[in-house]
Amino acid sequence: MTDARPATAAATVPCPFCALGCDDLSPVLNGARLRFSAPDCPILDAAAAAADAALSAPAAPRVGGAPASLEAACAAAAGLLGGARAPLVSGLAADLAGIRAALRLARALGATVDHAHGDALRRNLAVFQSDGWMTASLGEVRNRCDLLVVLGAGLFRRLPRLAGRVLRPAERLDGGAGPALVILDPAAPETLPEAVRALAPELLPVPVARAGEALGLLRALLAGRPVMADGAGGAGRAALATLLARLRAARYPVIAWSAAEFGFPHADLALEQAAGLVRSLNETGRAALLPLGAGDADASAHQACAWHSGFSLPTALAGGRAVYDPYLNRGDRLLAAGEADALLWLSCLRPDPAPPESPVPTVAVGHPGLRLAAEPAVFIPVGVPGIDHAGLIHRGDGLATLGLRRLRDNPWPTAAAVLERILGLIPAREEN
Ligand code: SF4
Repeated sequence: MTDARPATAAATVPCPFCALGCDDLSPVLNGARLRFSAPDCPILDAAAAAADAALSAPAAPRVGGAPASLEAACAAAAGLLGGARAPLVSGLAADLAGIRAALRLARALGATVDHAHGDALRRNLAVFQSDGWMTASLGEVRNRCDLLVVLGAGLFRRLPRLAGRVLRPAERLDGGAGPALVILDPAAPETLPEAVRALAPELLPVPVARAGEALGLLRALLAGRPVMADGAGGAGRAALATLLARLRAARYPVIAWSAAEFGFPHADLALEQAAGLVRSLNETGRAALLPLGAGDADASAHQACAWHSGFSLPTALAGGRAVYDPYLNRGDRLLAAGEADALLWLSCLRPDPAPPESPVPTVAVGHPGLRLAAEPAVFIPVGVPGIDHAGLIHRGDGLATLGLRRLRDNPWPTAAAVLERILGLIPAREEN
């Protein structure tokens, strides 16, 4: 770090690389190398290393695998997408300006739009749509929650600084020390991250695939129903009764999860049990959910699509109408069923999420080091939001918008600029 200099005049900058949206990073440049002051975050470290690697050998646009000018690559992308009958616009791992430009382009194309983590997004949305829910923000958990129940220890891998930033902040509005922690997961305690182990969590051996059973038993006990079972989901009845007593005694208990951990059929039914439990707890006290997605700007894509079309993802924008269908419009399904004939993949935060392997011609607009299993028809590298250019992105709880900064000189345009350029080359379709 000798000769390091601050990368920005701002005292601290926010991080766009996971749903937590930490806003306390102090970036420094050592030559062209970018480093952050944040303590021990493997996701941030990997994102910074990928950004460094990208700048050490800057990628240029390619058409059919051959180097091309930006102008030629945009023209090729416009020709490919404009000639498709049923294009899919997906990925959407970008800042808000990039996502909004992708939505405008999708509308002009009459395309269907989805997000790389659309399935996780829909899992949470299904609970909200079917039953409603009572939720907390990350700030409320940080300042008021006194008992946090986490469904699946994987949440701590997805949000590496959750323990330090939210569960044991330097200070809380209520003056307390931070919530007690219960984790439903069969993981051995020694496999938890050190910062989580330091909170002395109680572990109940309930895998996420059986969390619905355990939550259902808690609901039955809370409602005073006769319960014959001596446990549920892998946890004994006595342990669950103790957890229920803690939930009832807490001033502000919160149940948290990442929907990305619930990748099994009908997982929304398990999450509905959590929503129902919290609803019942609120009859006599105060409780909330903290439903998180998978990150990679899924919260931003959800918000932007909702205000552009009135619906979340996946939505078909053909014929000048917006049609939301969480099953028929799934991007993976459209590709697998041969119902999409071209793909625009937008992913510029990290080298992942990568475009899915698919036989349809693909235009990839993304991180200069985007992981590509196969050469797309057109590849256009763009800057990384929050490193190469400024922008806005939603935090994972959807309740705060983070102002990202440009931290270094770089040769790449923004995703929004590229997509607007492609849009300008698409002839207007009468039906749109
Ligand atoms: S925890 Fe998430 S938001 Fe915070 S520094 Fe790490 S990657 Fe960035």
